Amino acid sequence: YLEESISVPDYLETELITDAFNKMLSRVKTLDDSRQEFVSNVSHELKTPLASMKVLADSLNMQENVPVEQYQEFMQDISEEIDRENSIITDLLSLVKMDKKAADLNIEMTNINELLELVLKRLRPIASKQNVELILDSFRPVNAEIDQTKMTLALSNLVENAIKYNNPEGGWVRVSLNADHKYFYVTVADSGIGIPEESLNHIFERFYRVDKSHSREIGGTGLGLAISRSAIVMHRGAIKVYSKENEGTTFSVRIPLVYIA
Ligand code: ADP
Repeated sequence: YLEESISVPDYLETELITDAFNKMLSRVKTLDDSRQEFVSNVSHELKTPLASMKVLADSLNMQENVPVEQYQEFMQDISEEIDRENSIITDLLSLVKMDKKAADLNIEMTNINELLELVLKRLRPIASKQNVELILDSFRPVNAEIDQTKMTLALSNLVENAIKYNNPEGGWVRVSLNADHKYFYVTVADSGIGIPEESLNHIFERFYRVDKSHSREIGGTGLGLAISRSAIVMHRGAIKVYSKENEGTTFSVRIPLVYIA
């Protein structure tokens, strides 16, 4: 009955429909693969601090009469691993929030000059600890329709990275703000260690870190740039990176002044 009532031409059935179906199937498979990869990465990242804590706790438990200095040292290490676990979970929660629909944005007309001043003010203590000079160049007053919490997080991550991955002897981070009739532009430039060319395409991926051992010393989750990019994309904006190893890195962000739902 069906075959008689719907007269789909043979060539459509065999070629177009099969083709469309296969394309859909392969897209579903890609999505499923990346979801599985994400879950497996998350589990791995969450298990690493746990494994360290287990080793530290067990070795204290197995020894009799542990000297108090060793006890304190191991407890300090355990406490640092707990901090690490905590920051991974905090970042994951931010990322999950970003993954929700753009409808979740709380758009408000915002003075971007003031927002950047606040971002820099909060990060100044970390910068001075690392002997990094923080400079803000606001070229004009800018008001734009943004979600303040998400934009603050996106830009803070960039400035925090610029401080963290700066020259160990000290250096500078220059944040600049400009605008035209359609967009505002924020660049975050640093005099830091730079990013190798082969890594530039990967740094926005979840959990990607350039030099695992070195990055571990510096501390971080590998989720910061993924969070920044999600927030920027939610605002219909764009982010680009330019970098040269041992010279420095510049991230440039472009956001529409008026939010288009
Ligand atoms: P993390 O928590 O490791 O900082 P991010 O997602 O924020 O994670 O960044 C991913 C990686 O990109 C970092 O581990 C670092 O290797 C590299 N990176 C990010 N920003 C900079 C920068 N300003 N200078 C040099 N390397 C950077």
